[in-house]
Amino acid sequence: MGKRVNMQKDSTITIIGAGMAGTLQAVLLAQRGFRVSLFERNPDPRKGDAPAGRSVNLALGERGRFALDTAGLLEKVDTFSIPMRGRMLHSPEGEQRLQPYGKDDTEVIYSVHRARLNECLLDAADDLEELSIRFNHQLDRIDWDTNQAWFKCSEDSGEIAHGFKVLIGTDGAGSALRRSMQTQADLGVSEELLETGYKELSIPPGENGEPLLDPNALHVWPRGGFMLIGLANMDNSFTMTLFLDNHASDNNRGFDELENWPAQLDFMNEYFADAVPLIPDLEREFKQNPIGLLGTIRCKKWHMDSKALIIGDAAHAIVPFHGQGVNAAFEDCVALMECLQEIEPGGEINWKEVFSELQDRRIANANAIADMALENYEIMRESVRHEGFLLRKELEHELERRHPGHFIARYSLVMFHRIPYAEAYRRGEIQAGILDELLKGASSLDDVDFETAARLINHKLNTV
Ligand SMILES: Cc1cc2nc3c(=O)[nH]c(=O)nc-3n(C[C@H](O)[C@H](O)[C@H](O)COP(=O)(O)OP(=O)(O)OC[C@H]3O[C@@H](n4cnc5c(N)ncnc54)[C@H](O)[C@@H]3O)c2cc1C
Repeated sequence: MGKRVNMQKDSTITIIGAGMAGTLQAVLLAQRGFRVSLFERNPDPRKGDAPAGRSVNLALGERGRFALDTAGLLEKVDTFSIPMRGRMLHSPEGEQRLQPYGKDDTEVIYSVHRARLNECLLDAADDLEELSIRFNHQLDRIDWDTNQAWFKCSEDSGEIAHGFKVLIGTDGAGSALRRSMQTQADLGVSEELLETGYKELSIPPGENGEPLLDPNALHVWPRGGFMLIGLANMDNSFTMTLFLDNHASDNNRGFDELENWPAQLDFMNEYFADAVPLIPDLEREFKQNPIGLLGTIRCKKWHMDSKALIIGDAAHAIVPFHGQGVNAAFEDCVALMECLQEIEPGGEINWKEVFSELQDRRIANANAIADMALENYEIMRESVRHEGFLLRKELEHELERRHPGHFIARYSLVMFHRIPYAEAYRRGEIQAGILDELLKGASSLDDVDFETAARLINHKLNTV
């Protein structure tokens, strides 16, 4: 980031939602001297009585890690991050094959326990005297004429009003702030629900505490129309997620066929036979764990004048197949700090201008990662199974080695770099054209004309 500037110390900012983006944004703002009031509907998760959240662990890439580093938290997060060097593909016959993510072992993504990451952020928030967190406060409604936000407090079943100057909504995909803003201004919201849902299952550690799968890989059982994935946790257990259509169709299986135990077990044995013996609580987990919804939310406007801004899932929820939701939300937080520094540094803050700048910088990028995340579902559940895809990956990595800084696989641009998502998308399209041309009639790298490759790359791509 650029040079630090003195922010207006008396500006108080109200943030709704102490999840991933909200807590990091609050920490970054308080570190710069802003007073921040952070409200969260759930109890303090560190006190052990919070409801179970969705998805136990997540993949963090360079964007998320950079944001954590900006807040001085990366070292701590690294103590509970597990590097994953590639996808371990499980065939129907139970064979395992590693597809590396990057061009070499330095390019890895990290499996991180969601609750621990949230707790780490909350601990950092507690250390900042400019920041106050109120748990058990659920935003209910906003009086935009008097600038009062009303919260339901589960502690005493009462309601409180909180006067605000500036509101930031990080209250997730179902954002109450977004809904309230929409009563005042057209945010151009589109919500697109995916036909696929998900259910979490788990593999505990072995009898001696050992991991039952390779912890340094993201395990994938791609089965065409659906898939099972698994990420390691620090205690050597694995969190598994079954992604499957909600309704069966002529060419796909669906959760609605799996309503009773024999049907669930038969399905798992038919497609994931090597995983079944590792999931001892399969029957209970199928019964108890809900089927989660997945979807994409896009907004054409993220702010309402100088009063309110939405970021993270509240502004751009995406499907989880690129492992980028938190990464993108964290990137919003850093981008807001950059806008604050660049616009009228040291002077009276024009929030409308800051919010508008952030929106301009981020919307195209949010849309690009939303599209790439949708595309990646097809890749993960289907394409990875085909030799043609493997050859394409091999060629991408070879071109990266031969043309460093010029040709970088789109997956790598998203996971291991911080170039804007929209730019990664644009370069990815050009690179896809180059790969198509080079792979015409090729069945191995020996068939590829690397002189043509050099010419095309020099002609079509500049440095990253
Ligand atoms: C199955 C699955 C797997 C995923 N895997 C990954 C992954 O591997 N990598 C990745 O980067 N992303 C992943 N994601 C996406 C990621 O979870 C989200 O993008 C991320 O949590 C968004 O952060 P956020 O802070 O915007 O919202 P959230 O994390 O949803 O936080 C919102 C917070 O606001 C609070 N809140 C909500 N309403 C109110 C209210 N009215 N008043 C007060 N508080 C409120 C909530 O309790 C919560 O604490 C995955 C998502 C799913 C569903």
